[in-house]
Amino acid sequence: MHTTESLTSYQDLLGAIAAAGESRDILDPATGEVVAAAPIHTVDDLEKSVAAARAAQPSWAALGHAERSAFLFKAADAVEAAAEALAELLSREQGKPLNGPNARFEVGACAAWLRATASFELEPEVLVDDEGGRAELHYRPLGVVGAIGPWNWPMMISVWQLAPALRMGNTVVMKPSEYTPLSVLALAAVLNQALPADVLHVVSGGRDVGEALAGHPDIDKVMFTGSTATGKAIIRSSADTVKRLTLELGGNDAGIVLPDADPAAIAEDLFWGAFINTGQTCAALKRLYVHEDIYDAVVDALAKVAAAMPMGVGLDENNVLGPLQNKAQFQIVTDLVQAAKDAGARIVTGGNPQTDQPGYFYPATLVADIDNDNPLVVQEQFGPALPIIKYSSVDEAVEMANGLDVGLGASVWSADKDAALAVAARIEAGTVWINKHGAVDPRMPFGGAKQSGYGLEFGVEGLKGLGAPQVLSY
Ligand code: NAD
Repeated sequence: MHTTESLTSYQDLLGAIAAAGESRDILDPATGEVVAAAPIHTVDDLEKSVAAARAAQPSWAALGHAERSAFLFKAADAVEAAAEALAELLSREQGKPLNGPNARFEVGACAAWLRATASFELEPEVLVDDEGGRAELHYRPLGVVGAIGPWNWPMMISVWQLAPALRMGNTVVMKPSEYTPLSVLALAAVLNQALPADVLHVVSGGRDVGEALAGHPDIDKVMFTGSTATGKAIIRSSADTVKRLTLELGGNDAGIVLPDADPAAIAEDLFWGAFINTGQTCAALKRLYVHEDIYDAVVDALAKVAAAMPMGVGLDENNVLGPLQNKAQFQIVTDLVQAAKDAGARIVTGGNPQTDQPGYFYPATLVADIDNDNPLVVQEQFGPALPIIKYSSVDEAVEMANGLDVGLGASVWSADKDAALAVAARIEAGTVWINKHGAVDPRMPFGGAKQSGYGLEFGVEGLKGLGAPQVLSY
């Protein structure tokens, strides 16, 4: 175990993650410049990491909750000591600006989630206690947890996976997205200063490594965050070993604005609900349903907010919106906005990316007067384009919100909390927010309905998801 938090500067971080063997350059999505070389790990490397994590697991489990939590608190301190350097690397690799709800916010959330996860009480539950006997429900460690992550919030989502896994006495092998390996390698290097050897590994490989992890006989559970299509592939790969799975998959979150909402008062929160991380957020507002009485007022208010949000290179302190993380994502957004234009929808703002400059910048785009069956509405665009659909009755809005096969988050916007709650109860989504969207909290279980996945993260429910339930009956 390392006891000092010596990795605090950007150069330290790059040194800690420098690739020893085969590597490939990772490019800054805002400038095209090389950030650093990332190692290319293989299935052989995965085998070594799984074996080392397996060997380390019994003594980690034997420490018990209090000691493991103490390690997680130290890990949070290490993240804070390296916060600025981590935020810079995250900004360069992922593209998100330092400021706004972006890179510094993400690193801060890593420390906050580590501490919260270390703090929850998980007592055995007494199920029966009478003259016939007593029964208790305990949660034992599962063994080795595999964690496969996406490129949009690479550090924060890694912590969402590894913190409860470690807390519950498991060791962890992470497989970051091939688009953002440096962020996860650097985060793990920082955390490993505080953790015992071999409880946390990162294998920086491609899909083949992800597939091998999902089918590996020595992996007891997979925590997966990514697209619904990959989630289905992981279900198949994990079937032969009957692996436990938590699947946080794609979304296409609806927001419903009721006729009594105040457009000017909600516009900024609506904007960030949709455009956080330049729209590359699983539980971001992706379809906005607005009552016809206030439709024009909401569109105008949103356009004013959008015009005031600077987009550009993440390391520029002024910017709050960044580029799309990769070319494929840029193309998806370009094609979907084009489909909306072709169908006669109205581009209120944005919709005209500059392709003669470096960087995958796509301007914040509001699309009005669009049909509910347009591809920009029904497909997860995962970028800075918000379709705004007009409705005339709440029943119609609820039906449209529930009309897709995904249901991660949703929101209802109204001056009348009770009216909003009544609508929320009719929406098929794992979380429904009132007058906000996407506000996750380590104390509140988070997970998807329908094809947005299954299993819960965060809170005590999240801890239980990383344990093997065992009933003791005596
Ligand atoms: P993705 O599914 O393309 O990739 C995610 C990870 O899976 C990567 O590490 C990738 O290498 C790996 N992978 C790919 N094929 C695999 C296979 N066959 N077996 C095992 N692993 C494999 O997702 P992405 O493009 O990186 O992320 C964007 C998606 O993630 C969006 O759909 C978004 O909604 C979703 N997401 C969901 C949540 C949530 O909490 N529900 C959070 C963030 C992102």
